[in-house]
Amino acid sequence: MSIEIDRIKFDEKGLVPAIVQDIYTGKILMLAYMNKESLEKTLETNTTWFYSRSRQKLWNKGETSGHVQKVKRLAFDCDRDSLLVEVEQVGPACHTGEISCFHNEILMDSAFENFNRAITDELYEFLKGRKEHPVEGSYTTYLFSEGIDKILKKIGEETTEVVIGAKNTDRQELVSELADLMYHSIVLMIEKSITIDDVRKELGKRMNKRKQTGKDGKALNM
Ligand code: AMP
Ligand code: ZN
Ligand code: ZN
Ligand code: ZN
Repeated sequence: MSIEIDRIKFDEKGLVPAIVQDIYTGKILMLAYMNKESLEKTLETNTTWFYSRSRQKLWNKGETSGHVQKVKRLAFDCDRDSLLVEVEQVGPACHTGEISCFHNEILMDSAFENFNRAITDELYEFLKGRKEHPVEGSYTTYLFSEGIDKILKKIGEETTEVVIGAKNTDRQELVSELADLMYHSIVLMIEKSITIDDVRKELGKRMNKRKQTGKDGKALNM
């Protein structure tokens, strides 16, 4: 097949470790092994194929779960003994339902817990906590206990306030109203089980499309 494949060093069992990374979020999703045949199938189908050492056969990730990985970039490392597969992941990569297989934490320096994490991710986790563990007197807990209609009413109100804020000259008022709208949008996302990464991926797809077409746009077909 491709000349590049012949440059890869497979181990004595004919395998090479492949790290799978989410191309939109940069998260490391999993590690599995490929042999020459699975690598060829990966390149042919643009979805990941691995060699299962326990079952001793090829598997196409997502074949039973539907959680397929669409390959966007594949590279080997400096000494040609490992692969990096950058993918668009459908659903969670791990069979446990976790986004990444690397969820068993052994060490976490608390100072780095929220490092590299956008404020939206942090707020999302915090507000989700307010739903899962209700706190008396918490406005967020109140919103979740009132339910979807109350949350949607707030989205409507805050949207109107953003419009009014934008027409006024007070810049800080608009910033404050945008923050209100973002807060209530996150509450709505939690209520509807939509994650920040779902939205991040959607925006990432559009950015990608924009790079290809040179068009900005709110929909892929614009
Ligand atoms: P799937 O490929 O997601 O349809 O899952 C099929 C089978 O592959 C599962 O029953 C697991 O044995 C295995 N599997 C799926 N995802 C992983 C993973 N991230 N790491 C290791 N094994 C997996
Ligand atoms: Zn190496
Ligand atoms: Zn896993
Ligand atoms: Zn407001």
